[in-house]
Amino acid sequence: MKVHNFNAGPSVLPNEVLYKASKALIDFEGSGMSILEIGHRTAPFIAVMEEARSLVKELMQLDDDFEVLYLQGGATMQFMQVPMNLLDNSGTAAYVDTGVWSNKAIKEAKLFGYVDVVASSKESNYNHIPKQFTIPPQASYLHITTNNTIYGTQWQMTPVTDVPLIADMSSDIMSRSMDFNKYSLIYAGAQKNMGAAGATMVAIRKSMLGKVTRKIPSILDYKNHIENGSMLNTPPVFAVYISMLTLRWLKEQGGVSAIEQLNDKKAALLYDEIDHNPLFRGTVVKEDRSKMNACFVMDKPEMEEEFLKFCKKEDIVGIKGHRLSGGFRVSMYNALPYESVEVMVEAMKYFSLKKA
Ligand SMILES: *Cc1c(COP(=O)(O)O)cnc(C)c1O
Repeated sequence: MKVHNFNAGPSVLPNEVLYKASKALIDFEGSGMSILEIGHRTAPFIAVMEEARSLVKELMQLDDDFEVLYLQGGATMQFMQVPMNLLDNSGTAAYVDTGVWSNKAIKEAKLFGYVDVVASSKESNYNHIPKQFTIPPQASYLHITTNNTIYGTQWQMTPVTDVPLIADMSSDIMSRSMDFNKYSLIYAGAQKNMGAAGATMVAIRKSMLGKVTRKIPSILDYKNHIENGSMLNTPPVFAVYISMLTLRWLKEQGGVSAIEQLNDKKAALLYDEIDHNPLFRGTVVKEDRSKMNACFVMDKPEMEEEFLKFCKKEDIVGIKGHRLSGGFRVSMYNALPYESVEVMVEAMKYFSLKKA
């Protein structure tokens, strides 16, 4: 039985991906062995890794300077691996602070060089994306978090800058068309929009590398991973396989622009209800609303527990807000069916009629 899964991450995956993965767990492509039982340097697994890497390039239409890696350690490891590889001790990196995740990235970057926090929406509890900021021209890069999973804000445009642009896209990767080639490095934990926990996708321009003077441990050096075809050591084979299946699925859906249309429809349906239902109220400024994570509260907070219980009976799962922002957070990643949002909206309508 499936429920309506609005979890923020790890989160809903396409049924057919789960089905195929479960088969490969027992017998991988008729080999008589589980995908967990074969060497990662065998032809069948190298084919999985190469297909996953090339699907990322294809779906995001990345130009030839990009290399795609599947690493371990989560997006959280990228918070330190990015500055370790790209920010010299004497250098400056610009960061925009849009919430918990960008804060963690800032904290790690400070271990490696000077960090200029060029803008922050902290004063207003991260309810918007800062629009006005100046980037020091000597900055090694500008780092942004394109979608703020906890607060429900999302960058609607790509900042225009002459310095290399780096983004944590963990919670909106491949959910909408963007000119990904404007970026120099993009990273995302796979568990929200492109697979299972354990694999982290890093797309990096080769031309960014080799510029810092510090010595970098082998396992943390992007260059080593590139030279070894993302197989410097044993990769998280099952997580990479699930990501490959998820990307195949996305391609079958028509790719990023097709899923964007569906994501737009889902978000419009839900936000329309939030704006018209007298019991609910959105928590971020409308122009910066995330199409992946919708955050909202009730005007009467004492009703929130009751609404959660009501939703549970309707098989609606994972809508309780993050402990830092309270209320509700409804995550609508690529694999979430439109029907689940319809059920959510029906529940909001019904609950409010019952209370009227
Ligand atoms: C979930 C999330 C992270 C943390 O990812 P891990 O893979 O758990 O390290 C980082 N950034 C953003 C934007 C996220 O949504």
